[in-house]
Amino acid sequence: MIVPEHLQHLRLLIVDPNELSRTVTFDIARSLHWHVVALAGADEAIERLEEAMFRGQSFDLCLLATQQAEPARQLVHRLRDEIPEELQPRIILLASQPEGSLISEFREAVRIAGVLLKPFTPSTLFETVSPFFLVGQKEAGGDHEAHDDYHGQARILVAEDNELNQILISELLSRRGLAACIAADGEECLLQLESNPDGFDLVLMDMQMPGIDGLEATRRLRADPRFAELPVVALTANAQQQDHDACLAAGMNDFLSKPIDPRQLEAVLHHFIGHLLPSPTEASAGLSEAQAATNPTPTEFSGKHLDSAEAIRRMDGDLGLYREMLQAFAQSYHDLGERLRRLDRSNDGSQAAQRLTHTACGLARTIGANALAELIHGLELAAGETTVAAAEQRLASLLPGFDQELQAVLEEIKNCVEAARPPEVAEITPAAG
Ligand code: MN
Repeated sequence: MIVPEHLQHLRLLIVDPNELSRTVTFDIARSLHWHVVALAGADEAIERLEEAMFRGQSFDLCLLATQQAEPARQLVHRLRDEIPEELQPRIILLASQPEGSLISEFREAVRIAGVLLKPFTPSTLFETVSPFFLVGQKEAGGDHEAHDDYHGQARILVAEDNELNQILISELLSRRGLAACIAADGEECLLQLESNPDGFDLVLMDMQMPGIDGLEATRRLRADPRFAELPVVALTANAQQQDHDACLAAGMNDFLSKPIDPRQLEAVLHHFIGHLLPSPTEASAGLSEAQAATNPTPTEFSGKHLDSAEAIRRMDGDLGLYREMLQAFAQSYHDLGERLRRLDRSNDGSQAAQRLTHTACGLARTIGANALAELIHGLELAAGETTVAAAEQRLASLLPGFDQELQAVLEEIKNCVEAARPPEVAEITPAAG
């Protein structure tokens, strides 16, 4: 992952009483080449901040674990009482589940920059952090005052539960010079807005998410006058009229079909935040870099079961990204059939099966496995049968055909990934043998 120049020298303080999770967070932050100090508790953290203060330094950010509320609360209060405001780091709360009350309590005392749900990846950490540190901004931004300084830097909140889609959307946006914040579900999306009400210019909202879905999250944010005008665009795999009507009725402004077509994404960006988009030269620098990565030509990998050419086009021609998606798909869904067979449909299993197949179907389309996507869609409909017996029966009749196509797709993925491997790897193999 490439960290832009202005974000290369961030100073991070991690405060987490749990040693294991502290080490994990430390490694993730270090992988972004930031200066990181990880400490267990409030006493050490305050001591460290004071010590930095005497040397004329400060920390840009504090990642604060909230699993144990009391130590976290202690740090927040000591920060407020003992460290001058301009030297207080911005705080990102690390939580294993969205915790609304703690966030609003802490917001009263210190500057909360956001919430990160564990487990998170380096790219999610980066995306949460980057909107607060924009090019040319000395002081961390994100407040109302900073809004005017953005100069073509739109801030986009993406609510999307699936990790592969998160990666894909962030990539598409970052190639266009835009930073995205990721929320993993509707609840986290609302929390991010709540903790940073002036922080976003556009929300891209997945419709199907566990817990609070896209429609409900939109209704709730529209009920808040602060977000009455915030553009919300649905991301939806359902292209039917009734779904579109439901989006508009919930207060969304528009919708994008999944898999996302870059041209449609650009049209939406121009429509809603055209005045905030980076100048064409800035944005195209990112794009040509992506296109330079396209080598060899995509058509070489088009087989019977994968429409790679179309899928790669939707990824801005980035073969590396496509290969990543293929591998991730294979990893996530190689055992989809077994998992569906294991689900106990009498006990909430049918909902789980519908969610699982819905996401898998969207991702199969994303990688160009169109026939497989159709078969998975059939499984999704079967799982939604009104009676358990009917669902069992329909699934049983559909699963063998699905298994066969999945195996064919996995085989083709293997070939694609091997064919796309950089030549130096191929050269090493014979020498070693
Ligand atoms: Mn979803």
